[in-house]
Amino acid sequence: MDGTRKIPSFPLSRERRNERFPPKLGHKYDNDARQAARDTVWRAYNFVFVISLESPMPAQTIDGVKLSQQLRGDIAARAAALTARGVKPGLAVIIVGDDPASHVYVRNKVKACGDVGFHSVLEKYDADFSEAALLDRIAALNADPAIHGILVQMPLPKHIDPSKVIEAIATTKDVDGYSVLSAGELMTGLDGFRPCTPYGCMKLIETTGVDLRGKHAVVIGRSNTVGKPMALLLLQANATVTICHSATPDLAYHTRQADIVVAAVGRRNTLTGDMVKPGAIVIDVGINRDENGKLCGDVDFASVAEVAAHATPVPGGVGPMTITMLLMNTLEAAERVAGRV
Ligand code: NAP
Repeated sequence: MDGTRKIPSFPLSRERRNERFPPKLGHKYDNDARQAARDTVWRAYNFVFVISLESPMPAQTIDGVKLSQQLRGDIAARAAALTARGVKPGLAVIIVGDDPASHVYVRNKVKACGDVGFHSVLEKYDADFSEAALLDRIAALNADPAIHGILVQMPLPKHIDPSKVIEAIATTKDVDGYSVLSAGELMTGLDGFRPCTPYGCMKLIETTGVDLRGKHAVVIGRSNTVGKPMALLLLQANATVTICHSATPDLAYHTRQADIVVAAVGRRNTLTGDMVKPGAIVIDVGINRDENGKLCGDVDFASVAEVAAHATPVPGGVGPMTITMLLMNTLEAAERVAGRV
C-alpha cells in the first residue's frame, strides 16, 4: 500500500469496467439482466462524468452591492455604539471646482455618511480657490475633534498641487490612505489606513472563502491608489504577487498562471476568458464605457465567467465597495480616538 488511491480513468468501456469491478460470481443476479442493469447505470455515470468535465461551471458572481449592504449594516451598528459613548464618527469632504462627475461622487459619499449615522461636512469651493486657502481649511479640519476623516476629492484644479494637499491631511485622519505616511505604513505592515478601493477588493475576495496563502495573484495596473496598494494587501495575505503594467510584454502569460487576477487599468476588454486560468478569482476595478455608452469594466465578463470560479461584475462589484471602505476607515479613525478618550 503506497497510501495513494487508485483513480480509474473515466469513462471506462464495459470490458475495462468488468475487469476493474468484476461482477460478483455466484450472485443470484449474475446474469444478462444484471449485466444490462450495470450497463445502464454505468452509461448514466459516464454521461454525468463527461458532461461535468466538458461543461464548465459558470463563475459565481461576487456581489458587491450585497456585501456593501452587509458591511454598512455593521458599520451603522458600530457607529451607534460609538456615538452612545460620545464619539460620533465624522467625515469632512472637500471639493474644489465644478467637475460634474466629482460632484456626484462627493454627494454619494455624504449621503452614505448620513445612512450609517455619521456626522459629515461637505465643503464646496470654486475652481479658483487658492492652494493656500485649501491648506488652511485642511489645517482647521485636522484640529476639529468632530472630524475623524478628511477627504479631498480628486482631481483638483491645475493650480493646486495634489500631493501638497494630501500630505497636509493629518495621518490619523487620512481615510483615503493616499499620503506617503499611510503608504509607508501599508508597505511596512503597520496599522494605517488602507486605500479604499483595494481594501474593498480584499473584502470581495474574502467572500469566496479562498485562503490566499501560497496562491498566485496578478495585479494589472500599478497606480499609487489602486494597483500598488492592491499588490501589498495581497502580499500581506501571503499570496505570491506579480504586478503587470503597460510595459509588460505578454500579459496573458502572467494572467494564465494566476489564481487571482485584479484588473485596474481603465481599458475595456483588457482581460478576456482565454487569458484566465480555470477556477481563478477575477476582480474588475475598471470603470469604462462601451460603444453604446454603457458602463463596463476592464474585464470581458461574459468570456471570463465561463472559465473563472468567481468574478465581480461592473457595475455592482468593486464600485459600491469603495465608499463602504471609506466609511469603514472613518469609523476606525473614530474608534481609535474613542480608544484614547
Ligand atoms: P491609472 O492611474 O490610469 O493606472 C492604470 C494602470 O494600468 C497603469 O499602471 C498602467 O500602466 C496600466 N496599464 C495601462 N494600459 C495597460 C495595458 N495595456 N496592459 C497592462 N497594464 C496597463 O488608473 P487607476 O487610478 O489605477 O484606475 C484604474 C481603473 O480603475 C480606472 O478605470 C479607474 O476609473 C478605475 N477605478 C475604479 C474605482 C472604483 O471604485 N471602482 C476606484 C479607483 C479606480 P503604466 O503604469 O505603465 O502606465
